[in-house]
Amino acid sequence: MDWIELDGSRGEGGGQILRTALSLSMITGIPFVIERIRAGRRKPGLLRQHLTAVQAAAAVCGAEVDGATTGSQGLCFKPGPVRGGDYRHAIGSAGSCTLVLQTVLPALWFADGPSTLRISGGTHNPAAPPADFLIRSWQPLIRRMGVTLDIRLLRHGFYPAGGGEMLASTAPVASWRSLHLNTRGDLRRQGAIGVVAGVPAEVARREMQRAASQLGVLDEELRVLPSNEGPGNVLLVVLDYPEVTEVFSVRGERGVPAERVADSAARAARLFRDSGAPIGEYLSDQLLLPMALSGQGSFTTQVLSSHLRTNCQVIEAFLPVRFAFEETDTRVRVSVAQENG
Ligand code: AMP
Repeated sequence: MDWIELDGSRGEGGGQILRTALSLSMITGIPFVIERIRAGRRKPGLLRQHLTAVQAAAAVCGAEVDGATTGSQGLCFKPGPVRGGDYRHAIGSAGSCTLVLQTVLPALWFADGPSTLRISGGTHNPAAPPADFLIRSWQPLIRRMGVTLDIRLLRHGFYPAGGGEMLASTAPVASWRSLHLNTRGDLRRQGAIGVVAGVPAEVARREMQRAASQLGVLDEELRVLPSNEGPGNVLLVVLDYPEVTEVFSVRGERGVPAERVADSAARAARLFRDSGAPIGEYLSDQLLLPMALSGQGSFTTQVLSSHLRTNCQVIEAFLPVRFAFEETDTRVRVSVAQENG
């Protein structure tokens, strides 16, 4: 079979190019070679999180791999058949568990039996979906496409200590359903979750109060974790609509006032609320791959992000599907269909 050649510096130039290629190589059986991995990032090449994604992918399909070392900017990946089973991987740093899960889960939807996947590392990282986002926002939509999926957050892990753990159970998909998410319905509920580990609970209370002053009434949930799971602090703002739940997260940092953390989460939530679009920027690029696997679908989102565009190109390199974009001043409708459908 011909190898697919990918340039990791194209478009967004981030880790998603590699992760999407791994998922689709496992599913299609097409081997790939990628160069200039994460060339668009400050520390290019494979970090622990990407390396774990490669190793976890290789474990489920018995792949032949070349170039899987920390810092490597090139990788060859030749997959074998995907086998269901119980898999366990430790990132060994605060690298994102959710991104490793999102790489391997799609392949397990095409395995020969059910699977569990347990990953340890970071669960609430900057520049990655927090565990709560995967569970509340991504998972329900994936289930609507016909996937059996149960993702659990067993223990929180924050940068730089890590030490968190997530467990996902899934099974081969019997029949895919296409999803169209172009309206969201009226806002049902707004919530704030203030998470602290080894940080005073007062910090999370101030964040939630400030977010409520910006967004209106919020159901508040204070999550005080054992201090040995920290130090860490994150504020999550959850907007629930009949068709979708969106989660906006901002990590607290030493020296950054709680109010500033809350203002930035509230700003993102308000922009989304005012846009009327059902799908936010991050969820948009994370829906593309499952939607393409389901054969067809569409959604309306706030912006055409560079992650979104780049991910569409990688998916089109592996699958016989085409994406289309209809842009208006305020929103973008993204649709996917079979190439000759
Ligand atoms: P990359 O930068 O290529 O490694 O990809 C990062 C991934 O994390 C993309 O799928 C983003 O949509 C996702 N992501 C980054 N920040 C957030 C966030 N705050 N909430 C949800 N997803 C995020």
